Amino acid sequence: MPKLCKAGQQLREQIDDLYIERSRKSDGWIGDSRHSARKSDHNPDENGVVRAIDITSDLGSHPEEAHALVEKIRKCAKRGDKRIKYLIFDGRISSPILNWKWRKYKGNPHRHHFHISFTTLGDKDGSWFNLEGDNNERIEKDGGNVGEDFPRDGSINIPLGRSSTRLHSQCGTCECVAFRD
Ligand SMILES: [Zn+2]
Repeated sequence: MPKLCKAGQQLREQIDDLYIERSRKSDGWIGDSRHSARKSDHNPDENGVVRAIDITSDLGSHPEEAHALVEKIRKCAKRGDKRIKYLIFDGRISSPILNWKWRKYKGNPHRHHFHISFTTLGDKDGSWFNLEGDNNERIEKDGGNVGEDFPRDGSINIPLGRSSTRLHSQCGTCECVAFRD
């Protein structure tokens, strides 16, 4: 049974908490059949673990908010959260290459959603993502249990988010191909 890595569950949960009104129209995690034909972090690995999420860029607030959020995730990765593998949004990709500096992304520009891939370090590590940096240390401590409502025994393996019914990543139509070194 495929399941989303813990880091992916946690980050999506934090985004849900931050943007309660956000659209989930272009949300996704597991790849569809078109994905399975090629290398993508949306495809389950041999253990069934999926290491990518797509978050709809309409966060239910100002259109620029998605850029601000992606920037927070990028900085979190740059500060050393090695669970994040790379990000794609709005024609750009950010990864450890060039120390998380944005680079032009030649594939689908990803305007309706942003893509986050996770490393294997995020398979079991669903701890809090510190998206606010030093400004947020208290919340980091108090919020350490966010995401703990996922049963540890794995009895629910497909968290759908609060109201999301879309299972399949729309990257199937927009080429969220796995990033190659
Ligand atoms: Zn994707």
